[in-house]
Amino acid sequence: MATTNLRDEATRLLQELLRLNTVNPPGNETIAAELLCGYLEESGLSCELYALEPERANLVARIPGRGEGPSLLLLSHTDTVIADPEEWSVDPWSGELEDGCIWGRGALDMKGHVAAAATAIATLARQGFEPAGDLVFAATADEEVGVDVGLSWLCREHPEAVRTDYCVNEGGGERVFVGGRHVYLCTTAEKMSAPFRLNVHGRSGHASMPGIADNALVRAARLIDRLAGLRQPPRLIPETAALFAALGDVPAPAELERVVAGLPQDAREMVEPMLGLALSPTMISASERINVVPGLCEVVCDCRLLPGDTPEDVELAIRAALGEDSYDLEWIDAIGGTRSPLATPLWDAIEAFVAEDDPGAGVVPVVSPGFTDSHFLREAFGTVAYGFFPMRTMDPELAARLIHSADERIAVEDLELGVRFLRHVAATLGQ
Ligand SMILES: [Zn+2]
Repeated sequence: MATTNLRDEATRLLQELLRLNTVNPPGNETIAAELLCGYLEESGLSCELYALEPERANLVARIPGRGEGPSLLLLSHTDTVIADPEEWSVDPWSGELEDGCIWGRGALDMKGHVAAAATAIATLARQGFEPAGDLVFAATADEEVGVDVGLSWLCREHPEAVRTDYCVNEGGGERVFVGGRHVYLCTTAEKMSAPFRLNVHGRSGHASMPGIADNALVRAARLIDRLAGLRQPPRLIPETAALFAALGDVPAPAELERVVAGLPQDAREMVEPMLGLALSPTMISASERINVVPGLCEVVCDCRLLPGDTPEDVELAIRAALGEDSYDLEWIDAIGGTRSPLATPLWDAIEAFVAEDDPGAGVVPVVSPGFTDSHFLREAFGTVAYGFFPMRTMDPELAARLIHSADERIAVEDLELGVRFLRHVAATLGQ
């Protein structure tokens, strides 16, 4: 199939998707699922809609495999974050094609990927592709908020719909220049989000006579300062060791801190979260009256751990930084922190695509500082899930700035690259 046809087909589909408002909350993803269903059925695919709430459907389509090889899931989500039209230079739900880009909320996160994956499976179906194992397309709801009506719910209530050996999802594919060559970042692991709450205790009293009270807010300020000063030596895990190896050489543990400090700022900002704990106090509440000294102050900290680490592993260091004081520490729900192995047929397929499409460029593994829906698949089925959607035309720094922000757009060239990539992976794993 000529690539211009792939490009036009994906562009049209993306424009239609962008014109549907699926801002979450409330989501309303069913309108996107129905649009995709109509498109896929025209190519002979049968679709299934799964919905806990009628307005929030998840769509799953598949090309059944010959039963001779691994199954592959092309995963994406159809909900987006909010957009304020005042901040945009075009209507965020226009799907406008301008300057070689398709504009609209979700173009990068991640309706572009939705459209590319749908185009990939639809065009393969039309060609009569019979994969070794099932090729599955899932466009799910509720990724941006997570109230358990999207992939988490599917994995639990309809596991047969999404149980697969391999998965390609969002969260990677940026092309960056490091160590003298271009490399594409492939996300193979994600940090764990493990927030905690500090309840800082004092004694309330009238604010006109502070001496008779013990201000919990003032105590909390000291504790926040100590948390902000918490430093742990950077540490390599298999993913980051492989990253350094791909870029040149793996520093000895004692050298790591010095090596990281010597990196250019943008590289350092990217690598640092992959080397240890990230901790940010983000919320605080104390007295609700101007004239009442608070006896209790509640501080919530966003805390991200390396995959493999648990809250218990870092609690000692956090308590040591806080020192003796009048507080109690309470962990809030931890989520994510999963990883997939590095040496897999999916990795090889990604590497082969890059080698052919962008000679001289390589692929390196990265640990995402956040997390995606991939962790549900890894936890439920042990699926090998990577975040990879190659992007070559748009500058990765610009793309990072546009996600969840105004004037979000995707380069048509990158959309087409995504379709070719997903077709390549499906064809390679499904041989
Ligand atoms: Zn997303």
